[in-house]
Amino acid sequence: MNIREYQNRAKETAIYPEKFSIMYPTLGLVGEAGEIANKVKKIYRDNNGEVTDEFIDAIKSEIGDVLWYCAALASDLKIDLAQIAEDNISKLNKRMETDTLKGSGDNRERVVEIISDIQVFSDDTIDW
Ligand SMILES: [Mg+2]
Repeated sequence: MNIREYQNRAKETAIYPEKFSIMYPTLGLVGEAGEIANKVKKIYRDNNGEVTDEFIDAIKSEIGDVLWYCAALASDLKIDLAQIAEDNISKLNKRMETDTLKGSGDNRERVVEIISDIQVFSDDTIDW
């Protein structure tokens, strides 16, 4: 199954009322992400960080839940999930090329440009 097919099939199982669109999958997404965090916490708390087959099975299910809510949110917003995936990989590849994959922020390439401009500006024109 490709990601576009998945989004279409996930849509068939989205039974929440239209008036709750966007909000319902957003809150569900946060809840499922919390479930993942809780399971990861427990492998450290209860299992000294050892990843077991049982953990893998449980986390696969939770990742699937996160995926479903991402698909539902994208559908509510009439966004193609496959396009989101492609755009995301393009963004990450660009960050790898510009060595800005580390750090944080949604617009790191622009931050790097601004910092470069500031350095040029301060080096060339300001006598500190
Ligand atoms: Mg779940």
